Amino acid sequence: MYWKLNRIQYPIYNLGSGKRIGIWVQGCSLHCVDCLSPSLWAFDNGKNVKVENLLNSIIDVADFFDGITISGGEPFEQYESLIAFCSFIKMKTKLTIFCFSGYILKEIKEKHADLLFMKYLDFLLDGRYIREKHENLNSRGSNNQNLYHFVDGNAILQKNNSFSKRWSLSVKDNQVFMSGIPKENELNKIKKILEKEGIKLEDV
Ligand code: SF4
Repeated sequence: MYWKLNRIQYPIYNLGSGKRIGIWVQGCSLHCVDCLSPSLWAFDNGKNVKVENLLNSIIDVADFFDGITISGGEPFEQYESLIAFCSFIKMKTKLTIFCFSGYILKEIKEKHADLLFMKYLDFLLDGRYIREKHENLNSRGSNNQNLYHFVDGNAILQKNNSFSKRWSLSVKDNQVFMSGIPKENELNKIKKILEKEGIKLEDV
């Protein structure tokens, strides 16, 4: 089974607690206005990654991390790969799994009635990015989005807005990437600071 991914980035220290492996899936049909990652919309970009190979490489380093964060792109538009990956991670490691989706929980439940995602994910941040509801919240693009903790197959709404650092930078293959959700205008400031040092922040 293959999974269409944009990139795997680690370590990241946000989008969930602790030291994490970030997985960005490729492809999203929701097209929210002012999405931070429009390059992740197209389903014909990215790389086809064999789920089995990815699992093996993560299991090798799992002891050095606290969790995995899956973002995108839209993880639930590649549901079979998402579930295959997460079920195996849960079976073989102690890593927590945090997933970001543009769909709200009700939509996901209706579309994926097997509810396996509630069994294998630990946390879900749901809902589209709505520009008018942007409030500079930590780890949420807009205030319509809700954080759920899945416990024994039940979704428990979390009220804590500050569950991780706002953003972090990491380097891969001599390229600098950002993970997270910066404050309004913060992204341009960060880009300018890096440019002064001759460093380009990659678009994602
Ligand atoms: S769901 Fe996420 S990736 Fe998709 S368009 Fe909205 S903000 Fe962008």
